[in-house]
Amino acid sequence: MANLVRERKNGNNTYYNKNRHIDYSNVCSTTCKFCAFSRFEGEEGAFEFTHQQLAAKAREAYQLEGITELHIVGGLHPTYSFEWYEDMLRVLKQAVPGIHLKCFTGVEINFFAEKYNMTHEEVLSRLKAAGLGSMPGGGAEIFHPDVREEICPGKGNAEQWLEVHRTAHRLGLRTNATMLYGHIETYEHRVDHMSRLRKLQDETGGFQTFIPLAFHPDHTQMDHFARPSGVEDLKTLAIGRVYLDNFDHIKAYWISMGVRLAQMSLAFGVDDIDGTVIDEKIYRMAGADSPEVMTAKDLQALIRDAGRMPMERDTLYKELKPMPEAVAR
Ligand code: SF4
Repeated sequence: MANLVRERKNGNNTYYNKNRHIDYSNVCSTTCKFCAFSRFEGEEGAFEFTHQQLAAKAREAYQLEGITELHIVGGLHPTYSFEWYEDMLRVLKQAVPGIHLKCFTGVEINFFAEKYNMTHEEVLSRLKAAGLGSMPGGGAEIFHPDVREEICPGKGNAEQWLEVHRTAHRLGLRTNATMLYGHIETYEHRVDHMSRLRKLQDETGGFQTFIPLAFHPDHTQMDHFARPSGVEDLKTLAIGRVYLDNFDHIKAYWISMGVRLAQMSLAFGVDDIDGTVIDEKIYRMAGADSPEVMTAKDLQALIRDAGRMPMERDTLYKELKPMPEAVAR
């Protein structure tokens, strides 16, 4: 059924993009139980990149792979000024003119609003003026308070996350939406989560893609949990495709699922396989063993081998010219 919906909406096309992930810092003022990425200031493993270092990473990825997007998130940094984030966006825009900046989770935006005493609208408007193009959709985890208060009590709640995205949509910023599954949540919590997203999408139409993210327990405070099974991963994607009828796209994040399962997911409702990514840290620090990078050619081959049509897209799903070899077998 999920495949039927997928083919009605997107035909045989499977989207990917050329992007690079950059985490500007993992220094965070809170500790979510499922997170292996964050560190306190000065703790071993903490990192902070300067604007110049970030610009060098962006330029390198552009020269290497011709990226069209930078995907940028970080911890809830206790001491940076708001101008630090604005300057980061401006520096990156200058480093790679024309690059799309897909940055910050709803949790980061809510944190900025609280820390710098601004409204969500003020935060997003200023970041947009500095170069923000869209938001990646992280920080949603599981919305239900019974779960959220247990796994991430120190960060923004569901209402704040949804309000940030509602505001972003009103300001003309498209966003994505994630769901972290496979930990303490029940199926009822997942339905509640998707139902809230579906409702907001009916209201604004601003979401582009739904991205279920499998929980990776290694090096987290919840490392006694097992990873969700491959069957669970595929069912979660398929149910997302059927239930979220007002979302255009369902994405399988190959870093979290592994390459072969992500390929199989193209028969279970998925029409987007994310991008070249390069230098992902969040899942890798939680034990993901997927490759460091997939080139555009690798992604095309993976999609073609599943009998689908690879289609390079930009961040906003504008189809870019298919490469000559991008023909389904
Ligand atoms: S998930 Fe985000 S907010 Fe939570 S501890 Fe990790 S970096 Fe900080």
